[in-house]
Amino acid sequence: MSPSAFAWSERLSEAAAWRRAQGLWRERRTFKADLIDFAGNDYIGLAGDPRLAEAQAAGARRFGSGAGASHLVSGHLEIHEALEQRLADLVGRPRALLFSTGYMANLGTLQALCDSDTQVFQDRLNHASLLDGAKLAGARSRRFHHRDLDDLERLLARAPSETPRLVISDGVFSMDGDVANVGGLRDICTRYGAWLMIDDAHGLGVLGPQGDGCVGRAHGVDQVAVLVGTLGKALGTGGAFVAGSEALIDHLIQYARPYVYTTAQPPGVAAATLAALDILAAEPERRDRLRDSIRYFRHEATLLGLPLTDSFTPIQPLVLGESEAVMHWAARLQEAGLLVGAIRPPTVPQGEARLRITLNATHTREALDHLLETLAQLHEEGMH
Ligand SMILES: *Cc1c(COP(=O)(O)O)cnc(C)c1O
Repeated sequence: MSPSAFAWSERLSEAAAWRRAQGLWRERRTFKADLIDFAGNDYIGLAGDPRLAEAQAAGARRFGSGAGASHLVSGHLEIHEALEQRLADLVGRPRALLFSTGYMANLGTLQALCDSDTQVFQDRLNHASLLDGAKLAGARSRRFHHRDLDDLERLLARAPSETPRLVISDGVFSMDGDVANVGGLRDICTRYGAWLMIDDAHGLGVLGPQGDGCVGRAHGVDQVAVLVGTLGKALGTGGAFVAGSEALIDHLIQYARPYVYTTAQPPGVAAATLAALDILAAEPERRDRLRDSIRYFRHEATLLGLPLTDSFTPIQPLVLGESEAVMHWAARLQEAGLLVGAIRPPTVPQGEARLRITLNATHTREALDHLLETLAQLHEEGMH
């Protein structure tokens, strides 16, 4: 064996051993349809809707299974153009730009907007793609305490004023379910001449009067300069978009490398998203059902004394603290036919391991009761 091959396998096995020793080894579960899904982000039950599948097939028949090239070469098709227009209309912005994933939308946007002279301020619980995007841009992220406007203001006041500043927050926090104080962030940004970027991956399709998210039509470009939405969650398909001014979108088309150097999204997926947007507008009762389930779950869980947070979104974490407790509860729930997320460090801070329970509009009252009864049983056994 050559010395360099030896060094690599050593390095990998050390990294694996370290993960295992901490009890943090990650494994993929092949999702079985016999489990009730309380882990996913398909909040209004669109991912399995046959109308989306039909639209996707029709889109593929008409435009091809793949786009065949990047947007700047020959991959930008009519269906992408139509989808961008619809997304811009949904959130009330002049323009939107389609990306293949939310991760890439954030990498591309931050890499195009920031460099080593840019001051970036992030909520400490922001999504990994926002932290990674700033890193890719060579900008240093200062992180403020979660939803703490005073802490943000303290950091802004200390930063040199002649450099561009960007404040970034999740709209709905993906592991906690609480919502950014967008009004407060906007006021501070105005005072310090900073731009505000909100990633509303978990708010779009769920919050807002038309499912337009936590920073939809009522929050124009002058309040939230950069809005990111993803399509793989409540909209049930895949991909993402950035919405904002004409100048912002033009800038991204010029400079966002993760946009420029990648194949455009398969046209069938764009067609399915257009169908999802039709359903979002035509069937507001899906959001009503979801709201009812959230209210019911929280009411019953409170009576049971479960450690709820104060989230009013479909993300309802139970913070148990230790990773072992979380793994034990998740395994027992799975034996009962219930799939929930088991979230451990480094995804969440040390000592804050949690079950990430998500509710969606397809859950029946029976399914919710089964979940609540199983949680009550585990709670009584007292392992956390
Ligand atoms: C899921 C998520 C993303 C990534 O979106 P993908 O389309 O899954 O890559 C980005 N930001 C936040 C806040 C998310 O929750």
